[in-house]
Amino acid sequence: MHTFEFIRPADQATAIATAAQSKTAQQGADVRFLGGGTTLIDLMKLNVETPTRVLDINRLPLDRIEATPDGGVKIGAMVRNSDLANHARVQKDSLVLSQAILQGASAQIRNMATVGGNLLQRTRCIYFRDTAMACNKREPGSGCPAITGHNRTLAILGASEHCIATNPSDMCVALAALDATVHIQGPKGPRAVAFGDFHLLPGDTPHRETVLEPGDLITDVTLPPPIAGSKQVYLKLRDRASYEFALASAAVVVTMGSGKITRARIALGGVGTKPWRSSEAEAALTGKPANEGTFRQAAEAALRHAKPQSENKFKIELAKRCVMHSLRMATTA
Ligand code: SF4
Repeated sequence: MHTFEFIRPADQATAIATAAQSKTAQQGADVRFLGGGTTLIDLMKLNVETPTRVLDINRLPLDRIEATPDGGVKIGAMVRNSDLANHARVQKDSLVLSQAILQGASAQIRNMATVGGNLLQRTRCIYFRDTAMACNKREPGSGCPAITGHNRTLAILGASEHCIATNPSDMCVALAALDATVHIQGPKGPRAVAFGDFHLLPGDTPHRETVLEPGDLITDVTLPPPIAGSKQVYLKLRDRASYEFALASAAVVVTMGSGKITRARIALGGVGTKPWRSSEAEAALTGKPANEGTFRQAAEAALRHAKPQSENKFKIELAKRCVMHSLRMATTA
């Protein structure tokens, strides 16, 4: 492991001012915020991340879950994943979020991992994590061996010729379906980013994974007020029953009225280069009866633009079945 300076900023302003000295907020950044460390320390041990300064922000007051005046909820960036999943208000109003978190990682990791860190979780692509290999995400311009190599677990939606890495987060899939907003405090002040705009497609800059700029600190995530009567399900399909990343997952939030689906929010995990909200599937569901034909149309719409790699064509049908079954579960709950 490279040597680095370990700093505990006294307050948010100091943390942001120090981090703003970094050349980039993305991979290769020389200043990194430390939350639970479940991604960062892992990658530092592998020399994938080599910051010269690590800013421990665990003492900043960003660890609260609070009701917002409009009936929504504000989740501090340092809230632990376990605390969020088990919070009474989240279990009552945002069940899909609780389910998604509890299907991710292990209890020990969830106890450490933070909401802000989970938003920045990095891909499990084996080439990314192996510094002996080329990787455009780790070293821009070096190539993408996954395209002609091992790509069974990688993305079928949102990939580019430069990177086909999957976003590994479960929590983020639920946040996409819940219309969350990410709140950021940076050197130029605060700003709010709609969840769908927070993560970037790889394009020809796969090393840029989010809209964060140097010095930007995620302070909290807000959820809008819950939709009365909505049914929520997170369904995750994986190679083994626990402590495994999704091959395909679906977060669905649907509202029914007079036997029809009046509102639908659908997001997919395990198949996209970012948490994958499917407006196509939502349009295929809205105003339609909740039956097998409608569910199949939604699944087909969600995967219409899927482009498989040499080893992961199976993900297309798997993801379709995941969407369909999660809809069955939600509409019969
Ligand atoms: Fe790197 Fe992305 Fe290619 Fe994996 S898929 S080797 S992360 S560029």
